[in-house]
This record gives sequence, structure tokens and C-alpha cells, in this order.
Amino acid sequence: MSSQPHTVLPWVVRRTRLPLLSLRCVDCRSESATTGEGRFRVNANGKLLDVWLLVRCVSCNRTSKLPIHERTPVRTLDPALLDSYHENDPEQVAATLLDRRHGFVLEWRGAWQLDAPPAPTDEAWPWQVAVTFEDPVPVRPDRLIALGLGLSRNEALRRVKCDISLRRPTSTGFTFIVLTNSLSGG
Ligand SMILES: [Zn+2]
Repeated sequence: MSSQPHTVLPWVVRRTRLPLLSLRCVDCRSESATTGEGRFRVNANGKLLDVWLLVRCVSCNRTSKLPIHERTPVRTLDPALLDSYHENDPEQVAATLLDRRHGFVLEWRGAWQLDAPPAPTDEAWPWQVAVTFEDPVPVRPDRLIALGLGLSRNEALRRVKCDISLRRPTSTGFTFIVLTNSLSGG
């Protein structure tokens, strides 16, 4: 089928640093907090454990404790996981912050990038892009496509065919087809 795209470009969304947390400071009313270098606090009470992720207000440095495990029986926690809390393992800090089960509201602005190879030449129309996410960065597909193609959002919307809603933020991989430029294609 001549209409089937044969060129598939891989686009990858990845984070460049940890996102900030959307968290209202009780002292200065700032609305952003950072994990900084990343620290946990572990408190044992008999056979029960509390684990918190410590975060700092970006404007006044006030520390807040975000509960990760509350009154959890020690034996139910994976020992390797417990070690990672005690050692303030940076990978565990990232994994905890990004774990959707904790329901943190994250600020991704400036914390991610799109890696996209150069677009093929005009002869290769139409071509397909397969977007994958290395990290759960929520992006609006229309904005991502406009960014990757170097087009305005309206022009990007006219030029692509996609099965998902382009205006609803997603961090799940998707594909879309880039159609020939209607101005030069007639
Ligand atoms: Zn503050």
C-alpha cells in the first residue's frame, strides 16, 4: 500500500532532572518544594515503621515530611527497599517521587526534554513517529508534536493523524502519522 508510512521515527521523552512538587508552604505560601539531594527519614516504633520523604520549600527552605509508609509492619517491607531508605539512595528518591500511588502533584516544567531525530526529506511522506516515555512526564500530545516538528500547534494539528486525544496530557507511548505538507503537496 503506497499510503502506508514506511519511515518510523523514534521520539523519546525523558526527564533531565527531578520535577518539583506542587506543595503549599505553611510558612511562606510558596507553592513549590524540592527533594534536593534526596533524604528519607525512617522511624521504628516496635515492629512498626514510618518512612517519610523529606522535601524543602524552594523559597524558604522549610522542610516538610511526606509520608511514604505509615505504621507499616517491618516484615512486610522488602529489606532491600528498607536499606535504600536508610541510605537515601537517589534512585529510590526518584522512584518514590514518581510513584503515582503516592499521588504527588509534580511540576514538570523545565524538567524534561524531547529527543527527536531529524525529520526525513519530503519524498518520504507520509511518515510515522513512535513516541515513547522513559519517565512518566505528562505532556499534551499536540504541544509535543508541535515542539518536535517545529510547527505551531494549529499547523501541527492539521499535519498529523493520530488515534488518541491530542489535547489530553499523557505519559503513555503513542504513534502518529505526519502527512505531506498540504501547501506544497497541492
Ligand atoms: Zn516556604
